[in-house]
Amino acid sequence: MYDVIIIGGSYAGMAAAMPLLRARRKVAIIDAGVRRNRFASHAHGVLALDGKPPGEIAAEAKRQLLAYPTLNWVDDSATGVIKNTSGFEVKTHKRQTLHGARLIVATGVRDQLPEVPGLLERWGQSVFHCPYCHGYELQGGEVGVLATNDMAMHQALMLPDWGPTVLFLNETFVPSDEQLAQLEQRGVRIEPGRVASLSGEDLTVNMDSGVQHQLAGLFVASQISISQPWLDTLGCEMEQSPIGPVLWTDEMKQTSVKHLYACGDNARAAGNVTFAIADGATAGLSAHRSLLFEPLAKA
Ligand SMILES: Cc1cc2nc3c(=O)[nH]c(=O)nc-3n(C[C@H](O)[C@H](O)[C@H](O)COP(=O)(O)OP(=O)(O)OC[C@H]3O[C@@H](n4cnc5c(N)ncnc54)[C@H](O)[C@@H]3O)c2cc1C
Repeated sequence: MYDVIIIGGSYAGMAAAMPLLRARRKVAIIDAGVRRNRFASHAHGVLALDGKPPGEIAAEAKRQLLAYPTLNWVDDSATGVIKNTSGFEVKTHKRQTLHGARLIVATGVRDQLPEVPGLLERWGQSVFHCPYCHGYELQGGEVGVLATNDMAMHQALMLPDWGPTVLFLNETFVPSDEQLAQLEQRGVRIEPGRVASLSGEDLTVNMDSGVQHQLAGLFVASQISISQPWLDTLGCEMEQSPIGPVLWTDEMKQTSVKHLYACGDNARAAGNVTFAIADGATAGLSAHRSLLFEPLAKA
């Protein structure tokens, strides 16, 4: 019986484990090893780690956690979770069953990208979702926003701080007169046509019309999904963010299901590594407090 099972062993899940391990609690981390930022060669904006490869950050964190003897790291994928009177029973792909008094879900999100030929292979290299993470490195060159949803407007109004900006409407977004005025005020150019494909290393956006745009980078607000069927079974309350549904939590990262906590990208609208670490630390502390102050007998 573990004190806490953590599903997802990336930034949020590992940050959740830290305070629990330092309190000598028995923790299992189940991790499938598929981080959201695995496509990017460098992670930016993380204090003291700016520009480090994201895999190196995760590997160093794991190395430090494994020094604590009460951690069991399980390279596996959680496939089913049941809540029972003593806590949670977690089944895995490799047919293991783990029992824990508390459960922390730090499974991140999956990005659903628009089906533009050439886009997927440039994700994290010259196509990005977040200017704070990757905008600075584009050196003030011309950047694009590919409209996929209402967030196009938000991104297009932000991006002129990073470089001259062109908004590709791509037949998916029709700005209102008020929005057109706002875009003009920020100096955003509008390309109304359909994007046929992306090519080149320094990015070329090829329009259906044959026109080509050379850009330093392209920004896309991906739709996100949580894609863990067992969360539906547990009945966790969700909330709608502008880019897709996320798990509802209170400020201590407790979900609507008692003793089940969620942290990282799966429980906030716009995540990054720093927020994932902060949310993870909060969830870990929260689970520990609950173990201390809410004995299971009263659960
Ligand atoms: C291309 C790209 C570049 C980015 N660059 C930056 C950047 O430069 N700076 C920055 O701050 N942020 C960046 N981000 C955002 C950052 O990747 C996320 O905010 C961060 O990874 C969230 O951490 P997390 O722990 O919540 O989720 P993740 O890092 O996505 O980790 C989730 C973990 O849970 C595991 N998991 C999922 N389901 C299961 C299951 N059923 N069983 C077991 N394990 C499971 C996964 O395998 C994974 O290891 C970038 C994102 C993208 C897409």
